[in-house]
Amino acid sequence: MNYDVVVVGGGPAGAIAARYAARNGSKTLLIEEHASIGSPVQCTGLISTKALKECELGEGDFVLAKMRGAFVYAPNGEEICVRGKDIKAYVIDRKIFDRALVEIAVDEGVDILLKTRFLDMDNEKISVMSNGEKKEISCDIIIGADGIQSSVGRAAGLPRCEKFLSGIQFEAPYIPKDTEYVEIFTGNEFAPGFFGWAVPFSGMARIGLAKNPGLPARYCLEKLLHHPVVASRYRGSRTEHVVGGIPIGPPRKTASDRVMLVGDAAGQVKPTSGGGIYMGAVCAKIAGEVAAKASRKECSLPEYERKWRSAVGRELDIGMRIHKSLGKLSDENLNEFIAFLNKPDIRELITEYGDMDHPSVLFGKLIMSGNKMQLARLLGITFKTLF
Ligand SMILES: Cc1cc2nc3c(=O)[nH]c(=O)nc-3n(C[C@H](O)[C@H](O)[C@H](O)COP(=O)(O)OP(=O)(O)OC[C@H]3O[C@@H](n4cnc5c(N)ncnc54)[C@H](O)[C@@H]3O)c2cc1C
Repeated sequence: MNYDVVVVGGGPAGAIAARYAARNGSKTLLIEEHASIGSPVQCTGLISTKALKECELGEGDFVLAKMRGAFVYAPNGEEICVRGKDIKAYVIDRKIFDRALVEIAVDEGVDILLKTRFLDMDNEKISVMSNGEKKEISCDIIIGADGIQSSVGRAAGLPRCEKFLSGIQFEAPYIPKDTEYVEIFTGNEFAPGFFGWAVPFSGMARIGLAKNPGLPARYCLEKLLHHPVVASRYRGSRTEHVVGGIPIGPPRKTASDRVMLVGDAAGQVKPTSGGGIYMGAVCAKIAGEVAAKASRKECSLPEYERKWRSAVGRELDIGMRIHKSLGKLSDENLNEFIAFLNKPDIRELITEYGDMDHPSVLFGKLIMSGNKMQLARLLGITFKTLF
């Protein structure tokens, strides 16, 4: 087997990178270790309308529900309603979504091998375990879209992400306050450093949380289920359990001579929400294009590093600083911060400028609207130098 570009990992980032490599003229192979695309699912499946456009998909049968905004709950129970002007996000079925992305890649000329696990690489080829048999594949460029553990990144000697959150979730019958609103729960008892959620669809919700490493995730989940709001809406029983890590803070290097990392493998995940599909799609397109050019010797791979960082690097950097500031807040400070966001003039700013993919825009507006000192007091000194 001989390819210009081999993409390892059939998740959203891998499917899009492979599509873009093939579209730009490369003979491209996508390999996936599982027997089918999209399983197991490790995701809440909440993506912005912009993310769907970025993936170049219309509203397919993977859309389970449409969201207009969110209710955010402070540890003391104060509720803030973040209202979008129109539909802001979709709740999707990741299995169907991932398969749709791979189908487009195949339609655009990508070859695919399932049950094929990347093992190692040298200067000319990669070795894989395919259907229980060890094989070698010659290729010029390797794109590691193999998720949080990235064995491609390890084999290429590339550094790991700055931080890993742990996530846990299940699906259950749930009566939300409003079927078009996501519910976000803050509190150090169940989600130290991050938050919990209930994302409704079809009489159900994906109920879960992400948090700093430390307390066991299952213990935190039980605590979340005792939150008075969750307890009043959760209707018992649990299916579709998910336990997974979320990498945040990209490593300082994501490309070597013939390897590029993309998506979770490169920590291209929003540190404020843990969402990785949008950023992964933006960067995967760049990776696919650069891979095709590099296999024709028209550029070298550091071009990928430059281009993706110029597209989303600043957003991820600011997001990481916001994550660190918010993550340090005690429950008392979280109450104060959410009370601050609940002021009518601030709520207007949130409605106008809130963008789940680019939270830096809203934080910039909050600071420019004369709230710099208050935010700096609440969120710490690093905040003064954010913008
Ligand atoms: C609890 C939880 C909730 C989340 N909720 C959201 C959300 O609501 N919205 C959002 O945008 N993001 C969410 N995320 C993050 C999102 O799931 C990831 O950012 C996204 O899946 C990353 O896509 P990817 O293609 O980079 O990697 P993945 O989707 O992880 O795909 C990697 C693929 O590589 C394959 N692979 C791995 N190793 C090998 C190997 N050696 N050989 C061959 N194949 C291999 C895997 O089988 C997998 O198919 C959530 C994550 C968690 C844990």
